[in-house]
Amino acid sequence: MTKKSLGYVELEWNCPNCGSKNAGTATVCASCGAPQPEDVKFEQAAQEVMLTDQEKIDRAKSGPDIHCAYCGTRNPASSTVCSQCGADLAEGSQRGDGRTLGTHRDKAAPDILCPACGSPNPATAHRCSQCNTSLATPKPTQAKQQPAPRRKNTWIYIVGGIALFACVIFAFLLLHTEEEAGQVTSVQWTYTIAIEELGPVEYSTWQDEIPTGAVMGSCQDRVRRTQDSPALNSVEVCGTPYTVDSGTGIGEVVQDCQYEIHDDWCSYTVQEWQQVDAVSSSGNDFAPYWPEPQLLTGQREGESSEQYEIFFDSDGRDYTYDTTDYDTFVQCEIGSKWILNVNALNAVVSISPAN
Ligand SMILES: [Zn+2]
Ligand SMILES: [Zn+2]
Ligand SMILES: [Zn+2]
Repeated sequence: MTKKSLGYVELEWNCPNCGSKNAGTATVCASCGAPQPEDVKFEQAAQEVMLTDQEKIDRAKSGPDIHCAYCGTRNPASSTVCSQCGADLAEGSQRGDGRTLGTHRDKAAPDILCPACGSPNPATAHRCSQCNTSLATPKPTQAKQQPAPRRKNTWIYIVGGIALFACVIFAFLLLHTEEEAGQVTSVQWTYTIAIEELGPVEYSTWQDEIPTGAVMGSCQDRVRRTQDSPALNSVEVCGTPYTVDSGTGIGEVVQDCQYEIHDDWCSYTVQEWQQVDAVSSSGNDFAPYWPEPQLLTGQREGESSEQYEIFFDSDGRDYTYDTTDYDTFVQCEIGSKWILNVNALNAVVSISPAN
């Protein structure tokens, strides 16, 4: 994130002695002459206008003001002795800076009505143009923040807890098995071979990552990455401008910016082997054989798989055991007796010969 300076604006402070509103750069109250105390903070003006006065801008850049250790008067960072009492400012205390005051107020603010005579005055005015009364706005009393209700979170925990419990029960039911005695009633084997063909498959990637030999399709502009510093052809994306206290009565209007690097995101097509068909052979005996696919030009054999189903009878109840293990299958002669491990969903998890 890069902090970009957009310019400088005059801040304000309210005199705690007489309540008058003062320009940020005024070190003493224009009404009662009291110096601005160290603990009185600068505030944003209702409407912020960018300063063109180079002297004020330079002052904002020179560093936070220093309050005299003897009389409290604010002096620019460049001063060595107090403008009010002549004391050495080396013993004074420097104001803080860098505090974010709020969103930059570049819009025209509504007129302020004078609290004394009721005349409208521009939002930027400090005193009434009719009766010279200070136009200081009384500090709004901070509304007490209501703690956000926590109900939502509680529900998440309850639902999460129930779901977790259900998962544990389900896992237990699947893992827990009962032994049943079973007799093989029949078997079925199925052998399958996939048939593949070369065909176009579409993918998308950044233009410089397209594999060689691919046929390029259409491209579109996309943000490839975002970085903190500008680069060749980068697009600047900035947040809302805001005003920062420089400790001098002048605020700096800044903006946090990032830089988007754009690139071409393109579709491309490559030729890949894809399954277009499959041939199977099956039977109910113990002599399985592979099918013989009739391959057309441009086709090849893909993956092959063998599947065996063994059907059992257990005191009138039917069970089926699925396996890909040929050795187990050939032992399952019709009428042979087995111990079946059956889970809660009535699925046979494993079998072992009953001796
Ligand atoms: Zn005052
Ligand atoms: Zn002083
Ligand atoms: Zn007035």
